Amino acid sequence: MKIDILTLFPEMFSGVLSSSIIGKAEQKGLVSFRVVNFRDFSGNKHGQVDDTPYGGGGGMVLKPDPIFRAVEHLAGNSEEAGVGTGQHGDFKPRVILLCPQGQRYNQQIAEELAREDHLIFVCGHYEGYDERIRTHLVTDELSIGDYVLTGGELPAMVIIDSVVRLQKGALGNELSAVTDSFSTGLLEYPHYTRPADFRGMAVPDVLLSGHHENIEKWRLKESLRRTLTRRPDLLEKYEMTGEVQKLLEELKQEL
Ligand code: SAM
Repeated sequence: MKIDILTLFPEMFSGVLSSSIIGKAEQKGLVSFRVVNFRDFSGNKHGQVDDTPYGGGGGMVLKPDPIFRAVEHLAGNSEEAGVGTGQHGDFKPRVILLCPQGQRYNQQIAEELAREDHLIFVCGHYEGYDERIRTHLVTDELSIGDYVLTGGELPAMVIIDSVVRLQKGALGNELSAVTDSFSTGLLEYPHYTRPADFRGMAVPDVLLSGHHENIEKWRLKESLRRTLTRRPDLLEKYEMTGEVQKLLEELKQEL
């Protein structure tokens, strides 16, 4: 997978992209990163990438030209890639604009993006973007939540981290991503490790029993308990089997 990042602050990415699981994924050749300063595509000797808004008002707006040219460069053959034609969906790469007005990011979108070959992230700053970037260049607009940050760099890091850890071979234990919260449609069950008794707080007996079937059943029930108490909205979309329904009935009696 190729991941390109367009930003005015490339230095923000060095620690995140070279550390831990994300850094190892690049070393293993599962992903390659290019962090590009779109000021290099300004086309003017002052490196100007923003300007005042038409119609007046505060703040600076990112100009279309540098960002269009940087995306065209990263996408390779721009005509083939459909960049700048105004036809959404023509691109080979997914061009993702970070933006508080975008679709709210979640694990399902992470799984969808993890199947792509090439992602280009466009990190905004200042007041916002020229609207033509939104309407004629990008394929996706994503928000990481209903709050406003100073720039798209942290949201891009959040999305990249969640996408890269889904690449086959990125995690030490492939099962981790499968059982994670949201991947199953439920919140994950509680975990315990040694010691079995810590200051009088004991690990549930079933986890020490070695009885795999009972452990699986306990984990499903605890996953359902956690989801029912913390995120009941997730259960509305969850596919109910007879066993799940029975466990939910038991939990409603217990709570
Ligand atoms: N004036 C814009 C608005 O009201 O929608 C906010 C601009 S914000 C100060 C600057 C940049 O930070 C945005 O262009 C975007 O790239 C990024 N950003 C801020 N909050 C974000 C969020 N919740 N999710 C994704 N990107 C965000």
